[in-house]
Formats: sequence, C-alpha cells, structure tokens
Amino acid sequence: MSHPYPTPTLHAVDGALMLEDVALQDIAARYGTPTYVYSRAALTSAFDAYRRALNGRRALVCYAVKANSNLGVLSVFARLGAGFDIVSGGELARVIAAGGEAAKVVFSGVGKTRAEMRQALAAGIRCFNVESAAELERLNDVAGELGRRAPIALRVNPDVDPKTHPYISTGLKSNKFGVAFDDALAIYRRAAQLPNLRISGVACHIGSQLLDPAPMAEAAQKVLGLVDRLAAEGIALEHIDLGGGLGIRYSDETPPAVAEYLAPLLAVFDGRREELCFEPGRSLVGNAGLLLTRIEYLKPGEEKNFAIVDAAMNDLARPALYDAYHEVVAVQAREVPERRYEIVGPICESGDFLAHDRSLAVAEGDLLAILSAGAYGMTMSSNYNTRGRAAEVIVDGAGTHLVREREPIESLYASEKPLA
Ligand SMILES: *Cc1c(COP(=O)(O)O)cnc(C)c1O
Repeated sequence: MSHPYPTPTLHAVDGALMLEDVALQDIAARYGTPTYVYSRAALTSAFDAYRRALNGRRALVCYAVKANSNLGVLSVFARLGAGFDIVSGGELARVIAAGGEAAKVVFSGVGKTRAEMRQALAAGIRCFNVESAAELERLNDVAGELGRRAPIALRVNPDVDPKTHPYISTGLKSNKFGVAFDDALAIYRRAAQLPNLRISGVACHIGSQLLDPAPMAEAAQKVLGLVDRLAAEGIALEHIDLGGGLGIRYSDETPPAVAEYLAPLLAVFDGRREELCFEPGRSLVGNAGLLLTRIEYLKPGEEKNFAIVDAAMNDLARPALYDAYHEVVAVQAREVPERRYEIVGPICESGDFLAHDRSLAVAEGDLLAILSAGAYGMTMSSNYNTRGRAAEVIVDGAGTHLVREREPIESLYASEKPLA
C-alpha cells in the first residue's frame, strides 16, 4: 500500500499528526503559526534517491535553490555534497552563507546583471548557463575586466512539450528561456572565439512538475545530437546539464520514482564520458515540507462553509497563482461532524484561498497541515497586507531547529520613512 500522505515522514499516532518523532501540535505550541515545517529525513532521502540512481556515473546534483532557499535547508544539502542551481546573486550569497561550495554552483537565468556576473566570477562558480547571444558577449566583457575566464554552458531550448502547466513549461520555442536549438551551433562558434570564455557544457530545462519521463528523454536525445555536432567541429563539452523538473504527488498524481525518471536519460548517455548534471528543485523539497496553520474562525454559509485560517496567499501563493492543489489534513482527529470547507486566509482578496471544498472534522482553534508545501512555498511568499512572513522549522528526529524566526512587524517597514 502506498503511504497515506505524500510526505514520507508524516504519520498519525493516536489521531495526532507527527513529522518524524515530533508532534505538529508541539511545534505550533512552541513556535506559533503559521509555520513552515520541513523534515530533515525527508530532505535527505529525496537527495539520496538521486545519488543512488546516479551511482557509478560521473554526475552532479545541483539543488535548484529557488524552490526553497532557507539556509537550514541549503545546509542539509550542502552537507550531503550537493551542488546548487541559482538564478540570482542573492541565491549565490545564500548558498555560501549556508556552507555550500561555489565550485559546485551553476548559474541559470535570462537576466544576469554585470554585478551578478562579477560576484559569481569572484566566487569561482562552476558554470554560467548562458541564455542568449547578448549574455555571452556581456559575460566575455565582464570576465575580461576581472582577468578571468568564465566557464559556460549554453542553455538550449529543445522545443519539446513537457505536458505541464503553461506557466511552468520552459522548453517550448515560444517562451523566453534558452536559445533556439537551431541557433545553438552558431552561438557556440561565437563563444569559441571569445577569449574570456571557456566552453564547458550544454544545458536544458524543459519545465516543472513533469510526470512523464518521455519528453525529457526526447530532449536528451536532441541535446546529444548537438553535443556530437559540436565535437565534429572541435568543440568538446565536459558536461551535460539536463535541468530539473521531476514532478511530485500533490493529490493523486503518480510521478515516476527518481530512478525510473532518470533511467531513460541515463540510457541516452550510456557509455559517454561527459559528466551529467541535474537541477532538481521541487522533487527534493516539495514533499519534505508542510505549512502549519490554525483555524481562527469557522463561518458557516448558505452555499459554502469557510474555515478562516491564519495562513494566507502571502504565505503560500500556489493555490491563488496556479490554482494548485494541496492536501489539507487536521492535525488532531476529533469527534465532530465532517463538513465541507473552503480554506481561506484573512487577506482582502477573493483569490485568497488555500484549498476548495475539503471535508474536515474540525473546530475553531484546531490546527491544519497544508501538505506538499516545501517547494515554491516560502520562497514565493510576500508581505502583502503587511503580514510578517511565517517561521520555518526543520524537524530532525525528535528535535527541532528554528531555521527562520517569524518576521517581526517593525522589520517590515524598517527601511521606509514618512515624509519629513
Ligand atoms: C526552476 C528551475 C529548476 C528546478 O525546477 P523543479 O521543477 O523545481 O525541479 C531547475 N533548473 C532551472 C533552470 C530552473 O529554472
């Protein structure tokens, strides 16, 4: 039988939800709500699944920091030997502050500034994943000013349909990421002429929440064709970066296991000497985390019942942004009738909902766990309605680490001032 919850280390003891060996009720009592709670064991086992599947191959797993950039989470992966995929200078600073190695950092993103390039060159990152011809020229310039050679991979757009949400598909011709496949050869030739660049590899990333390995295998096949054409021109690549994107179970999805997802990709590169690189985000953290929130009010209505909770769209934007589904479970089972509820926050927007039409047996003051919230949860949060952001806690066996304090209200306007 499959695990009842998408979070592997979540289980109920006498009707009370526990993450690893810690009762969620105790976390709420100690740290308050709303609070993001992550399981160290779940983070570790998600990373280990990649490590095991890549065992015996020259490969680097670069955790995509934008999925969850808390220093505590980053430090767990750094200790496991992970590399990191960043999309800003801010994320690079976080990785270094968390003990990550710059030499294992790849830098993605379509809009790298000169300052970010300087910062990354000075830190000595492993590779710039370059997304346009213009970026190539700028990077050559900036590297020249610093007297360095910038290692690069060109992010190519293999134009395959990842069959995912249109906002999170990135490998189609029509979107802003990467360079068109047909232009790649010419841009590599140009890169080979630029004195301050060193061609290291090729990169692609076709989208997120992928549930089918076939589009990725198709992309890999296309990338391999390009690698061979480059080799024929004397441009030998050292690494091939296949991006992230593996999906997770939020509700009734059945994503492939990491090993199943990677097998067809590894088959494409069987016997090749290039190092393989992956950039998983969601699949490493999504189901290792949940958002703990308390019911402030129950508000019965003629058409709908509302459970008004202390978390809101500023804490977890995915439902409002993508109409995303997150499972919601009561933290303590109780003997009251089940009702169907809209789970909503206190923000002044009709779009402020966390879940629609859920059957729950709950009373005012009860705690709810919003599951699968470890990825693109806290990192997409805001201070809308002048709400301080949630605390973050990592559960570690029977212990807990407060890895981010609840944001104090004064800090939200500390850098503002009224007119004199
Ligand atoms: C967002 C992103 C990732 C991570 O995607 P997931 O779907 O979270 O695995 C990896 N690489 C790049 C370039 C990205 O933009």
